[in-house]
Parts: sequence; structure tokens; C-alpha cells
Amino acid sequence: MKKNTDLERRRFLQVSGVALAATAVSANVATGADNNEIRQAPALNSLLRKATLPRARGQRVVVVGGGWSGLTMAKYLRRFNPGFDVLLIDRQSAFVSFPISNSWLADQVDLDFLSHSFFDAANNHDYHFMQATVLGFDRETRRVYTEKGFVDYDYLVLAPGIEYDYARIGVEDTEAQNLLFHRYPGGFVSSSELLTIKRKIHRFSGGTFLLNVPNGDFRCTAAPYERACMVAALFKRQRVRAKILLLDMNAEIRIKKAGFARAFAELYGDYIEYLSSSEITNVDIEGRRVETEFDEYDFDDAIIYPPVRASRLIEDNGIASPISPQKAANTDPFRYHLLDDERVYVTGDSRSQPFSKGGHTAHSEAQYVAEVIAAHALDKEVRWRSPQTMCFSAVDIDPLRAMSIITYYKFSDKTGQFAFDRTHLIERWDTQGGQASLAWAEGMYRDMFYS
Ligand SMILES: Cc1cc2nc3c(=O)[nH]c(=O)nc-3n(C[C@H](O)[C@H](O)[C@H](O)COP(=O)(O)OP(=O)(O)OC[C@H]3O[C@@H](n4cnc5c(N)ncnc54)[C@H](O)[C@@H]3O)c2cc1C
Repeated sequence: MKKNTDLERRRFLQVSGVALAATAVSANVATGADNNEIRQAPALNSLLRKATLPRARGQRVVVVGGGWSGLTMAKYLRRFNPGFDVLLIDRQSAFVSFPISNSWLADQVDLDFLSHSFFDAANNHDYHFMQATVLGFDRETRRVYTEKGFVDYDYLVLAPGIEYDYARIGVEDTEAQNLLFHRYPGGFVSSSELLTIKRKIHRFSGGTFLLNVPNGDFRCTAAPYERACMVAALFKRQRVRAKILLLDMNAEIRIKKAGFARAFAELYGDYIEYLSSSEITNVDIEGRRVETEFDEYDFDDAIIYPPVRASRLIEDNGIASPISPQKAANTDPFRYHLLDDERVYVTGDSRSQPFSKGGHTAHSEAQYVAEVIAAHALDKEVRWRSPQTMCFSAVDIDPLRAMSIITYYKFSDKTGQFAFDRTHLIERWDTQGGQASLAWAEGMYRDMFYS
């Protein structure tokens, strides 16, 4: 028995390479303890026991990440294969929606509108939910490790979203990255960032407020431009004497260009100064200054949104593609499983395909991938279908006015790449668009949590 536990410990340390093991080692180094003491670390012991869960009623599918992708996945896995026993794991205790959060920043909806319980989703859709952080997984033994113990899987779906890549704006030092994240959060990864941002913009008393648009394949292309509009609308309503400096790391507005350009000029000419091709190369956090290739900009307060990469869970567990700049997983572009493992799937914003990183994209994609996994378990196949991207962008408040885009994707055998297909763009903003944005979000929450 003792031998088995020792083997398990060694296996965990070997496969996971996770932060916790590293922490245990460095704590021992710091206290001068020898490595044998790692085996006695109580925290490690709790990782190596089985998590307390109801006995699996069928093939167990573990879904990591209860965002737009994971929530949809968990629901539709049960729907497409009622024989599956589905477990959703998220490190957070509740879900707070990023879509519509910009409208919330400008007081157009309450926090209640955005917040939903994982328990409701799991109860209504008949799956299990566990609040825990996934630390690593072992594909050979099909085991997922969390701080609450391990869980064995038949299929594993990874939908852990994105992380910031501060090195790409010249902030390499990890302490500086941490300080920048806490002081000037980007508001694109966790709900605490959103609370800080709301407090900042409501208390801002005047001066230069800096926002930026990252480059590369970042989360929700329209959202940084939308956020600039919402912050400007708030300052305008509160008669704050402020300049919003919007530094775009791209050559031009990346999406809904005519609509946003008109909003900046017609609604917020006195507030927003938009500068394209402003590649951020460094941030002086204490000095409150951003450096670009050609200039330096002082600010009084800021929201700094660095370029993004796929969750580290993917790279740390050795499944990132060696050629992916964003360290996305090495997956089949049509079936979403790892190229060398049809039991492990990667979806949502950490996917390798270049689809727009959006909640709606993740939701429609997850329905398809759930069907793929259900079919795989029955030795069947499903025809590829494109995800759908739908994105509303609010530009004005009281009443809320918004514009929108819907698009699909197609694969070109000629170029070997995906491109937009059947795009429908509405760049005229109006109150109908504003109402439609809220109705869309309500429909999505209903589907993921209640119906
Ligand atoms: C301000 C803003 C506005 C947006 N507006 C829109 C919009 O109008 N329309 C639209 O379609 N999209 C919009 N988006 C984008 C949308 O929010 C994302 O594309 C979507 O959330 C992606 O879903 P996901 O499930 O891949 O990732 P996420 O929603 O980020 O979910 C990932 C989950 O994984 C969990 N997790 C991560 N690592 C671990 C771990 N190790 N263990 C356990 N749990 C873990 C996290 O806690 C998180 O809950 C917006 C985003 C922002 C920030």
C-alpha cells in the first residue's frame, strides 16, 4: 500500500511539473530541508488522494474551466450522450460574464445580470460541479490532479481560457508583471479585475486615463474599443475633465472600423484621443508612463491589456504546439483533440484555430465538439461545422446603443487556413442594437445555466 502511494507521488511530480510541486521544492530549499521532506508535505498528500465525488455512472468526461466553452460543453455532453458522467471543474466559486461587462461598467445593467451560479447550471443540466484548481493531468493513467484530490477520466476537455503575456509589452520581470496586473488590470481574464476597473473609472477625478488595444489574436477584438466608448460615456455623463488616450498596437481599428471611428469623432471628440500603430514596448509602473516604439505617454490612471496566450495549463503539461506563438495546443483543427490523443480535447479561447476569441464562438463550438465526443464514444463521426461568432458592441449609454457582427468560418484547401465566411456587419449603432445585445446575453445565460 505504502509502495503504491510512493509510486503515485513520484508519478504526480513527474507528469505534472506544476507550480505546486515547484513551490514545495523551493519552500524546502528556502528552509534548508532536504528533498525527502517533500514526501511529507501535507499539501502534496491531499493532492494524491481521490477527490470526493459521487461514483461515476458511465464514462466520465472531465471538463476543465467553467467559462462559456466549458459550461456549454458540460450541458451538451449530457444531452448528446446521456450515458456520460460529466464533471465540470472551475477554480472560481461563481460565474461572472465578460460579455456585457463593458455596459455594466457604465451602469447599464446590474452585477446580478452578469453573475450566475455553477450549482444552478450543474443541477439544471444534470452534471457535477467541483470548485478546484486543476494543477496537471496524466494522459497515460487518464488522471486529473487538483488541490482537492485527483479525478480519473475517460475523456478530458480543456477549456481554461487565456492568460496575459506581459513580456510582449516589454515587462519581463515576474514581480513587475504581478504589480502591473494588480495596479492596472486589463479586465480580460478575471472578475476581480472588472471590479477594480469599475471602481477606478467611477472615482476618476480628471487627467489622462490610458487604455490600449493589444495586437495578435486577442480576446474579443471589439471589446477594447467598446470599453473606451463606455469609459468616455461615463466621464461625459459625470462631467469629468478627462482625456482617454487609446493606444492601439495595431495599424488601424481591427473591427467595426467605420462604426467605432464615427463614435470616437461624433460622440467623444472631446474625450478620446485614438492613436494607431502604438506598439507598447515598456511600462514604468511607479512613474505612470507607457513607452512605445516612438513616444512616451504619461497617465494618471490606466487599464493595460497586454497581448494574450493560451492558458499555461496547456504548455505546462507538454501539449502546446511548438509552432504556436500563443502556446496553443497541438490539436486537430476540425475535431479538436490532441493530434496524438483522441481522449483529450481543447476548446474555447485556448483553442489553436484562429477563430475570434468570443463567448458566442465558444458556445457554438462547444455544442459541436460535445457532439464529436459523444459520437467518438459510440465509434461514430460527425461532419465538421463552423462555429458562429456574434458580437455586439455598445458605443453609447442612457439609452444603450450598440452595433453588431455575425460571421462564420470556412477552411481553404488552397491556403490551408481558415477565413471569415458569410459575414453580416451592422456598423450603425442604435437602441435596437442596445436592446438586442442584452436579449442575446440573457438567451446565452439561459442556455448555459437554466433551460
Ligand atoms: C470585456 C469583455 C467583453 C467581451 N464581450 C464579448 C461579446 O460581446 N461577445 C462575445 O461573444 N464575447 C465577448 N467576450 C469574450 C468572451 O468573454 C470570451 O471569449 C469567453 O469568455 C471565452 O470562453 P472560454 O470558456 O474559452 O474562457 P473563459 O470564459 O475565460 O473561461 C475559462 C474558465 O477556466 C477557468 N480556469 C482556468 N484555469 C483553470 C484551472 N487550472 N483550473 C480550474 N479552472 C480553471 C477560469 O476560472 C474560467 O472560469 C468579451 C470578453 C471581455 C473580457
